[in-house]
Amino acid sequence: METNKPLVCVIGAGPTGLVCLKYLREIADLKCYELKSEIGGLWVYKDTTDDDHKEDDKFYELYGTVHESIYKDLTTIIPIHFFAFKDFPPKKKERTHFTHEEVLEYLQDYSANFDLERFIEFETQVIEVTKTTDGPKDWTVKVKNNGETKEEHFDYVIVCNGHNSVPYFPTEGIEGLDLFKGKILHAHNFRKPDTEDFIDKNVLLVGLKYSGMDILYQLLESNNIRAIINGEEPNYTIDESGIGAKKIILSASTAHDLSQSDDFKKYADKGIIVPKSGSKLEFTEDGVIYEDGSEEKIDTILFSTGYKFSFPFIKDPSLVEYECDGRYFGPLYQRIFSINHPSLIFVGQPDSNAFNQILMERQVMFMKSFIEGNLTLPSKEEMMEHLEKDKKHVEENYGLRNFYKAPFQYTSGYIKELKEILKSQDIEPNEDNKEHLKTLFKMLPIFKETLTSHNCITFQRYDYKSLIPEDHKFDSSEYF
Ligand SMILES: Cc1cc2nc3c(=O)[nH]c(=O)nc-3n(C[C@H](O)[C@H](O)[C@H](O)COP(=O)(O)OP(=O)(O)OC[C@H]3O[C@@H](n4cnc5c(N)ncnc54)[C@H](O)[C@@H]3O)c2cc1C
Repeated sequence: METNKPLVCVIGAGPTGLVCLKYLREIADLKCYELKSEIGGLWVYKDTTDDDHKEDDKFYELYGTVHESIYKDLTTIIPIHFFAFKDFPPKKKERTHFTHEEVLEYLQDYSANFDLERFIEFETQVIEVTKTTDGPKDWTVKVKNNGETKEEHFDYVIVCNGHNSVPYFPTEGIEGLDLFKGKILHAHNFRKPDTEDFIDKNVLLVGLKYSGMDILYQLLESNNIRAIINGEEPNYTIDESGIGAKKIILSASTAHDLSQSDDFKKYADKGIIVPKSGSKLEFTEDGVIYEDGSEEKIDTILFSTGYKFSFPFIKDPSLVEYECDGRYFGPLYQRIFSINHPSLIFVGQPDSNAFNQILMERQVMFMKSFIEGNLTLPSKEEMMEHLEKDKKHVEENYGLRNFYKAPFQYTSGYIKELKEILKSQDIEPNEDNKEHLKTLFKMLPIFKETLTSHNCITFQRYDYKSLIPEDHKFDSSEYF
């Protein structure tokens, strides 16, 4: 039925798409296309990897990789309270971190609570988005379902297709990778540690951010992780026969610090993990030579080196242009609105680690206000100027490849900026869930401390609440 509300297309029913639907459900007519048969995006765990994808994998057909990037025993590195959206607190749990099954359950409950599935067309791929005219319903969205294609027209298109599925492999400083005869993997295809790629093997782990660190822990402590998940008593003594990999060589600038942290020192002392830094890796048929000339024999290389942005359904370069080998795209205003056509909107692309949910929900509130007509964007020239300034700052300080995942001190500035924009429109940012935020801010100093001491895993496995002094004071303005 035609109404006078704007007609909005949402691409993807992962966490971001669901939050968009929740916010827009009363002010817009909505259609969400989701290529899978269920909601939840990345949090729908499947064993499938790029090596064994099914022929009818709709994501693979479009992107050339499977969508799945999470592993069997993944628990969130950030605590439950960081994962909650406004108006929907997570159920109380004994443990303070979600397993991936619990994240999915939270998302399913969220969707049911706000009755969101009625907007979703499942098993439907968006294959092309084009700008046709400059009038109303000027976006043409071509979709494919069951082999049939159709076109629909919309006033707004909101892209929520995720950004953690198309693996990035570094090339700079890497030589001879094609000579290497062993197994080459990316974290994207890591599912579990007890496979022939790791058991009794020398593994080179390249990249040690959250995922790299967690995968390292999986390789070293898989039995303990299972025990914790099953509510059993873990046994933290080193039992070398229980360790899958023979030796794990770490290649990252933080490798040495990490090997000296409480979490990993015992393994470094025994030579089970070997830290290496330096900006060059030269591969041979069965090994790697480091910048300092030292050499290690290796069987498996696991790149935990992040992901690329990919929007295969947008072909017009004025809408999406990539830089830094797919790790930057634009031009967007405030990392949300296409500067050339602001009714094309991207949500949930920045990665702020601990604050993804707060950041993404603020983007959604901003976008809602724009669609409602309550918030006018600056002129195209002003938006471009804002972007260029922002790009220059990130490029000079962190490298453009980090534009969508800059360090905390920068990202918190972006989150604050979103808050100021919302406040200028008398919109209450997603801060009114006071009880959650209270817990969250109490944890921040401990979170920061564990991160800087490379004991992030400890933080993930233990009950942090006992670490927070009763009289701890917090001030949210310090962060956002
Ligand atoms: C190992 C790992 C651990 C992580 N841990 C955390 C964590 O602890 N906390 C956290 O906040 N984040 C974490 N993340 C980040 C994760 O990306 C986000 O939590 C979240 O899944 C992003 O939601 P999204 O909806 O933007 O994207 P996704 O979850 O990727 O969902 C995108 C959806 O869009 C659909 N889609 C894509 N293209 C099309 C198309 N053309 N047509 C129709 N549908 C389409 C997909 O099928 C999918 O359902 C982790 C990521 C990884 C890889």
